[in-house]
Amino acid sequence: MAELKAKNYIDGVLSGDRRILAKTITLVESRHPDHQLLARQILDGLLDRTGRAIRLGITGVPGVGKSTFIESLGMLLVENGDRVAVLAVDPSSSRSRGSILADKTRMERLAVADGAFIRPSPSRGTLGGVARMTRETMLICEAAGFDVIIVETVGVGQSETAVSSMVDFFLVLMLAGAGDELQGIKKGVLELADAVAINKADGDNIEKARKARRQYEMALQLLHPASPSWAPPVLTCSAVTMEGIQVIWETVLAHRLQLSKTGELADKRRHQALHWMWAILEEGLKERFQRHPRIIQRLPVLCHQVEQGTLAPTVAAQELLFLLDKE
Ligand code: GDP
Repeated sequence: MAELKAKNYIDGVLSGDRRILAKTITLVESRHPDHQLLARQILDGLLDRTGRAIRLGITGVPGVGKSTFIESLGMLLVENGDRVAVLAVDPSSSRSRGSILADKTRMERLAVADGAFIRPSPSRGTLGGVARMTRETMLICEAAGFDVIIVETVGVGQSETAVSSMVDFFLVLMLAGAGDELQGIKKGVLELADAVAINKADGDNIEKARKARRQYEMALQLLHPASPSWAPPVLTCSAVTMEGIQVIWETVLAHRLQLSKTGELADKRRHQALHWMWAILEEGLKERFQRHPRIIQRLPVLCHQVEQGTLAPTVAAQELLFLLDKE
């Protein structure tokens, strides 16, 4: 029975049925054990139809212009005949607060475009959980025939690392400031970048954007590039006037061509798959730990003792691990 159901979903996704696609993603995001089992069966059945899309990650602080940029780039791609899915990783998001990523109301044209599919971030759970759901959603969208998957995130905690480890190309959007561009910028995010784009390079801002570009170029030169065959470029663009958007897309394609030639793209994906397996394992172990009845019983006492300094953290951790092992 369950198998038959899984087959219906698999056939629906493969035929590009939007309603079934959305329902499958809902299964992936569900905490219900039956749904999780079904979702795993569906994913398993779709696996050999995944992997063909260009996976693009985009990050930037709120207000940098992510939605506007994705709408502009997405429309450009859709008009070229590509099918585009927009997903998001935002562990802070909920209905009432947080920056709403992949928000359809902020991507009005793309939301109604035939070749586009927009899905906001799963709204509950830890970063690990949210990242897993988004990654699985990405695979489902690939099986449904999308050519480009855009995964959006904001610089919250480790979400940028999580997204960069599920995409082929990681684009960091920045703003030109008043000469202090590099202040407050986490060096970490530049290390993840395959390209940096200074957005809002329009009107009075053009000169400032050029100056920021030079500063980022210098900053990037100091970093060790992730790939021996790709030096991350710094570009300027305007998501509003569309200036520079085409060049950014060509940069994504050039990177793809280069890394495919050297075999690095295939390596990157293999490495990401393994990394993903470990991430799921860690998440699962943590969850199992927190649900374990003996742990639930002992944890508050041990936490209190560690806080009070009456028990060494090592001793407490050892006891908890021992409780987990004891069947
Ligand atoms: P997000 O929070 O990163 O998704 O940013 P939004 O896409 O919502 O953009 C924030 C604000 O910046 C909005 O008022 C946009 O209209 C504006 N904006 C976005 N991109 C550009 C741009 O390239 N040029 C200018 N002048 N404004 C922009």
